[in-house]
Amino acid sequence: MPELPEVETARRSLQRVLRGKVIAAVEVRSPAVVRTHRPRAFGIGLEGKRIERIARRGKVLLFHLRDRWTLIFHFKLWGTLRFFRPAVPPDPQTAVVMTFSDGSGLQFRELQLSELGLHRTSQLDRVPYLTSLGVDPLSAAFTPARFRGMLSGSGSIRAVLTDQERIAGIGNLWAHEILHTARIRPDRPASSLTNAEVQVLYRTVRSVLRRAITAGGEPEFVDATGRKGRWRLAVYGRGGQRCPRGDGTIKVTRLGGRPSFYCPKCQR
Ligand SMILES: [Zn+2]
Repeated sequence: MPELPEVETARRSLQRVLRGKVIAAVEVRSPAVVRTHRPRAFGIGLEGKRIERIARRGKVLLFHLRDRWTLIFHFKLWGTLRFFRPAVPPDPQTAVVMTFSDGSGLQFRELQLSELGLHRTSQLDRVPYLTSLGVDPLSAAFTPARFRGMLSGSGSIRAVLTDQERIAGIGNLWAHEILHTARIRPDRPASSLTNAEVQVLYRTVRSVLRRAITAGGEPEFVDATGRKGRWRLAVYGRGGQRCPRGDGTIKVTRLGGRPSFYCPKCQR
């Protein structure tokens, strides 16, 4: 599932190639993906519009168009957005094709439960998913005090990090990479963290996400120009393998119904 680093990587690669482009045609090959319009109305709504900039909120991409419309793309489980200049014919995995006035094209591929919606920019605060999102962990609003305030209650620290209504953008993969870097076990009750651990974890959330963006996200992710993520996973998906710190074997368990990975030697 693309999380904040992957969606931000997609955003940056799309911003580089799409800014200023005028949408000439839209072909919806999988109508279920478009949630706000019928395919034909969706195409008519987009055609002739210029892409001004591409933003991100949590795990969602927002294509801000001239004339105060915004196209929202939510990856959900998976998806690849590929830019081609000149445009190439879509493959069977392509759900939506956007062609631009200069002959280039954008394909929305391999979508899994992904959603597209076209909204008036002035009404974005009525889109339920966007209004429910918590603080962006890379924004100035994510302060140490605010983070500390999230840690009451009996839930695990993994559950706090992945709760989109508290912190927007961290999912199961990056929560585990962050917790390994901070040397904290994912199943620790959030309220049991010491002040020193809270400080380390706060800084680690931001530093790991920033480094993950620089690396282009996790290894299976592909950006708009076809570049793969270059992050080397420390624990996620590495059950039974050696901890990169060289001190133990990665353990895999279930936590809250989802897989959980940690090193019993260096995480407490
Ligand atoms: Zn270890």
